[in-house]
Amino acid sequence: MEFPEAQPEPGPQAVPGTVVHKFGGTSVADAERYRHVAQLLLAREESVQVTVVSAMKGVTDALIAMAEAAASGSADWRELWHELRGRHRGAAVALLGEAAGPTLEWLDQRFDHLAQILAALAVIGELPNEVLERVQGLGEVYSAHLLGHHLQALGEDCAVLDARDVLVVERNELGVAVDWALSAARLAEWRGGHPQPRVVATGFVARNHGGHITTLGRNGSDYSGAIFAALFGADELHIWTDVDGVLSADPRVVPEAVQLETLSYDEACELAYFGAKVVHPQTMYPAIERGLPIIIRNTFQPDHPGTRITASSEVSGPIKGLTLSPDLAVLNLEGTGLIGVPGTAERVFSALRNARVSVVMISQGSSEHSICCVVRQGESERARDALLSAFAHELGQGQVHRVQLTTGISVLAAVGDGMAGQPGVAARLFESLGRAQVNILAIAQGSSERNISVAIDSQHAAKALRAAHAGFWLSPQTFAVGVIGPGNVGAAFLDQLLEARQQLLGKANVDLRLRAIASSRRMLLGARALSGDWRAALAGSPEAVDLERFTEHLLSAHLPHVVIVDCSGSAAVADRYEGWLAAGIHVVTPNKQAGSGPLPRFRAIRAAAAASGARFRYEATVGAGLPVITTLRDLVDTGDKVTSIEGIFSGTLAWLFNKYDGSVPFSQLVAQARSMGYTEPDPRDDLSGVDVARKLVILAREAGREIGLEDVAVESLVPASLGQASVEEFMARLHEVDAALALRLRDARARGCVLRYVARLSRDLQPSVGLVEMPADHAFANLRLTDNVVQFTTRRYSENPLVVQGPGAGPEVTAAGVFSDLLRVAAGEGARL
Ligand code: ADP
Ligand code: ASP
Ligand code: MG
Repeated sequence: MEFPEAQPEPGPQAVPGTVVHKFGGTSVADAERYRHVAQLLLAREESVQVTVVSAMKGVTDALIAMAEAAASGSADWRELWHELRGRHRGAAVALLGEAAGPTLEWLDQRFDHLAQILAALAVIGELPNEVLERVQGLGEVYSAHLLGHHLQALGEDCAVLDARDVLVVERNELGVAVDWALSAARLAEWRGGHPQPRVVATGFVARNHGGHITTLGRNGSDYSGAIFAALFGADELHIWTDVDGVLSADPRVVPEAVQLETLSYDEACELAYFGAKVVHPQTMYPAIERGLPIIIRNTFQPDHPGTRITASSEVSGPIKGLTLSPDLAVLNLEGTGLIGVPGTAERVFSALRNARVSVVMISQGSSEHSICCVVRQGESERARDALLSAFAHELGQGQVHRVQLTTGISVLAAVGDGMAGQPGVAARLFESLGRAQVNILAIAQGSSERNISVAIDSQHAAKALRAAHAGFWLSPQTFAVGVIGPGNVGAAFLDQLLEARQQLLGKANVDLRLRAIASSRRMLLGARALSGDWRAALAGSPEAVDLERFTEHLLSAHLPHVVIVDCSGSAAVADRYEGWLAAGIHVVTPNKQAGSGPLPRFRAIRAAAAASGARFRYEATVGAGLPVITTLRDLVDTGDKVTSIEGIFSGTLAWLFNKYDGSVPFSQLVAQARSMGYTEPDPRDDLSGVDVARKLVILAREAGREIGLEDVAVESLVPASLGQASVEEFMARLHEVDAALALRLRDARARGCVLRYVARLSRDLQPSVGLVEMPADHAFANLRLTDNVVQFTTRRYSENPLVVQGPGAGPEVTAAGVFSDLLRVAAGEGARL
């Protein structure tokens, strides 16, 4: 961008060790903050310390609202006036205590004068610009006095400088230009009477050559800071605000934005010009001309070094920051008559210039068939009319087809010195936007290659900014992770995930960001990655569960990948898999509902995954953390043919029958298993065999046999008479099964066998789960504790089946199975694990 030519002249009073500090409204919200600012200033050793302050937070807006209300004839201004006076008096009393008297008197005089102006506005019924300028800058005057009086009350030798007494500026086409010579002379004169080492000056306000009070434009206190830094011949300008410096994007839109340690003036100018509110564009030019470092830093974190803006910065990547400028419009002039005609662009721009329209961005395709420019929305109709009249002749002749105006446009700009000569930067930007379904209306890149700008529909602005930010700052293996069902397995998984996160990031550059947790009642949605005590955070979250919003939240950050980990046992959650997968969200689950539930749903889920490329993984549904499904998948994928699958899939039933030797009745063993936590709260869930049957269905489908639960013959160990009883009654009456089981065991032993609860799938027989007699030397007869075993007989493993065996139950190992699935998904997306 261009700056006025004038040279800032260091004031005659330049003293080495002069530093100018500027505190924004966010730093001076109330008395407590003024106190904090004063302490911060006193802790610094500077030979001359000039502090430029903004109005208290929200005061400029309140003053403007008051003036507008008065001029519109509304009596509301009186209430606003009372409120504002009360706020300032309150701050004075809180800051100065007993000594507040003179400050209160001073404030009362100013507010009485303000009331007179407002009453006059109410009479004339309009708001002349001159009056608005005068009124909107009053907050800075109050603010400087509050801080100055506070420092004086602390015994400091401090003067208050009203910038209206020294700064002379003039508004021109490029903004507000300083009359350096006159301002320097006035400051020198003022300094003659005020030689104090500490000066508190008003930001935002000044006077024009006609002697009228004016301002430097909204957010203009940054500019005041830079002007005073030049006039005082300062060594540095510190701009104090409420964030750690300039961030890679507006943190209110992109919570993941990172702080930038250094910026060049050029980068800062581009960022500021395109809307990074943290610095005002005009701040830069007085500083640039003197090579003055500008440091943006956080009042709330005074020890943080902040962002240092100097002539050159470290190039840390192609892009330093992304910004959004809202409220723009695209103006397009189109026609075959433009091709090869010299001077068309010039005519467009001179028409716009004559209509006093400033052009934010220009783009022309090399076919010269159209010229497109982006202008401010407020000036867009004027701009269109200017082009219509400038090209009236060509429009009449058909050489220009149309002048088209599209409003509601934002410009997204990617800025960085490092993109010069680097291929692929634009591609990365466009790819991220494309993936987020953001349409680009126009593109421009200056030949400085410091900025690529795209015009987009404002409705997509936030999404576009997040997506572009993710594209540049996040590794391609960044996952937004949402976990549903933080019960036993879910909780163990969450703990494992949080513990392994850093290591995975360091070792494999896989960035798993936990962004949401939902229980059956509430949910926790994190603006950034959740960490620390998720239990307490979830328990304290006021949000009721809503899986629609949960999903939106996961998608909203536009991280490269999204995965939902469903640790619930819910069929309703399984009903959502198809939609998630279709939307490109990976699903990982130990929930057996989908794998063993109705076939149409299962097929729809698989089809959705195949269509979108998202992955559906459910290793932990069978054998907990054991690689059962992965093994089976590998067999099938490499062309083997499965002839039979047999196994013990229930840790509970495995334990019960390992123990059952007739010395203790079966019902007592169940009670014992229950007390050790080896069974479900209702042991019938284990004893009924349905859970085992579900696992068999899952394996059958994986082996290519699309069966349903109804196809499995299930032998339940729960007597029909106890099916409906309460859990207590069931436990009390379970001894009713003891005699029959004892008999079966005795018969089996007589044949040299033991009893095992086995699941079987073979080519010829009906799939079944139930009690089976096994030879005492069979592998299934010699398992330990709650071990599971699965035996695959295939064409290749025909004589000697392939066996997977090991602990097959418990939250820790099941969660580990879920976690391995998640890592397999990451590997599928290119992570090198
Ligand atoms: P002050 O009152 O201190 O002048 P502002 O509200 O004018 O503060 O500017 C600071 C705010 O600018 C921050 O709170 C932040 O939300 C916003 N902001 C927008 N873009 C950026 C960015 N790229 N880096 C840092 N802050 C930004
Ligand atoms: N108080 C003014 C505004 O809100 C100036 C500033 O704070 O920079 O625009
Ligand atoms: Mg500001």
